[in-house]
Amino acid sequence: AKAGATDAGIDVKHMKWWGWGVEGVAFHHEDKPAFAPFVKKVVGVDLHGDAVAVAPSFDDLDIPASRLQAPVLAALSMIVGEGHVVLDDMSRVVHTYGKSIRDLIRIRNGVFPRVPDAVVYPATESEVAKIVATALEHDLVLIPFGGGSNIVGALEPQPHEERTVVSLDMGRLDRVLDIDEDSGLAVIQAGAQGPDMEEQLNAKGWTMGHFPDSFTHSTLGGWVATRSSGMQSDKFGDIADMTRGLRMVRPDGVVVIRAVPSASTGPSLREMIIGSEGRLGIITEVTVQVHRIPEKREILAYLFPSWEAGLKAMQAIAESDATPSVTRVSNEFETEMSFATSKESKGASALVMKGLQRFLKAKGWNLEKMCLSFIGYEGTDEHVDRNEKLVSKIVKKHGGMGVGKGPGVLYDQKKFDTPYLRDFFLDHGGAADVSETAAPWSKLLPLYREVYASANRAFDKIGVKGLVMAHLSHSYHSGACLYFTFAFEHGEAPLEQYDVVKKAIQDAFIVSGGTVSHHHGVGVEHSPWLADDVSVPGLALMQGLLDSADAGANFNPGKIT
Ligand code: FAD
Repeated sequence: AKAGATDAGIDVKHMKWWGWGVEGVAFHHEDKPAFAPFVKKVVGVDLHGDAVAVAPSFDDLDIPASRLQAPVLAALSMIVGEGHVVLDDMSRVVHTYGKSIRDLIRIRNGVFPRVPDAVVYPATESEVAKIVATALEHDLVLIPFGGGSNIVGALEPQPHEERTVVSLDMGRLDRVLDIDEDSGLAVIQAGAQGPDMEEQLNAKGWTMGHFPDSFTHSTLGGWVATRSSGMQSDKFGDIADMTRGLRMVRPDGVVVIRAVPSASTGPSLREMIIGSEGRLGIITEVTVQVHRIPEKREILAYLFPSWEAGLKAMQAIAESDATPSVTRVSNEFETEMSFATSKESKGASALVMKGLQRFLKAKGWNLEKMCLSFIGYEGTDEHVDRNEKLVSKIVKKHGGMGVGKGPGVLYDQKKFDTPYLRDFFLDHGGAADVSETAAPWSKLLPLYREVYASANRAFDKIGVKGLVMAHLSHSYHSGACLYFTFAFEHGEAPLEQYDVVKKAIQDAFIVSGGTVSHHHGVGVEHSPWLADDVSVPGLALMQGLLDSADAGANFNPGKIT
């Protein structure tokens, strides 16, 4: 079995049941001397004390028993083979939630109003089709499961669901089936997890270029079903841009969207399926645009004297002839956090750091306002050189300066480890999660200010010292994505406290002209804001589509609308 397999011998990787990633890997702060003081200062949590709330033992949890009836078990087993219908408690818990802070808190507290009754692992599209037919025949609820990494409540069964709930794990459908080398189009099974998929593509000289922070534990089908966006989206696009064709199993057959560069065939079915969160059917295969592995790949770091200057520079880059793969700038709080999570610099690098600080102070910078930016370049040597020069001019024009490759290399190496920090923080009594939006350039700064004002009011309301950090990622010609991380020391009712802060931030997005989510999706978490985002008639149109496509509410009901 692959590392991390949790089910009865099935060759599919899953994350640990109580948190992010694999067992045995965790965040540590002992080698990062500035981290504990930073956390103490900004949210009051003392990391030097003992952990106050570690995850419970699985045996102490009270897991509702499976309600799977014998005829359904027999029918499913006939389709996928007995060993691929799994009923054990651990498997059912792993398939109950995603990985939001709400999910982690509920799991740690043994809150399981409804758990799937079975997990089924098909190996082919025809098995998926038979499972769908069985679901309709027995009036089951089917919830497609990719990597289980979503943070919007897109997986949890409805709490009062009376019908049998089956989690349909796509993990055995994990192969790259074909690459059309002329067109750069790869046909890939929907259950492929990021690293497995890239490994198969890389072996033939290709890459998809989709690297969300959750890359290591999420799947192609999950990305498509949630309209995901990866770090290099400035060059490769969001998943919606990369997805050229797909296959989705429905009760009346397989919807086939052929991979053509563009089509004028009425309202886009492709776009309707992208972001459908399991509500329209089961995506089995996706044809994506792939690219030759670039000759050169670099992430350079830059510093800006202020957040405003950093934002202006990112806008200027988006409007320029430069085509970087990543544009990212952190505000002053996230910059401080980035430095605080770095290992202690010693010897020559400590001297360089001190020298840089002296230099910037002499230039008149207030180091507390300084903002760290990463800009990525990919392509031929010539392309990378030309782009670095174009960007360098823009950075200077906005008062910034380049600080070389070192921090970019570090960032690139540790970006997939960052999610472990949330579990560690939770162990010490802190709650942290994220909210992200996109808005036109003209509205970004007012939106940003509104989020801070609104979140601070929420922190006051629940009586905590809270922190909000932000960065800009994913630039477009007309605007960008702003990504906010919020954290506070939670009390006895962490979920209620979280809801107050989350609501404050989402409300601020809407009143400021931003979208409810740029790339995390809707699930149950964001659905209260959907009408504000897409208008009441817009929501009615969406509801009409979902209701008519799934009259019996068998496909992941309760999500999106
Ligand atoms: P799951 O969580 O398993 O499922 C998500 C939804 O898709 C569910 O509704 C499910 O039913 C449906 N679904 C899954 N597979 C299929 C299928 N084959 N057919 C039909 N429906 C299906 N997201 C980003 O976009 N960018 C990021 O950088 C990013 N970073 C993250 C970092 C962390 C620490 C965490 C916890 C999450 C992050 N996310 C990010 C969110 C999450 O990883 C994405 O939503 C991801 O696309 C979910 O993929 P998954 O395979 O894990 O899907």
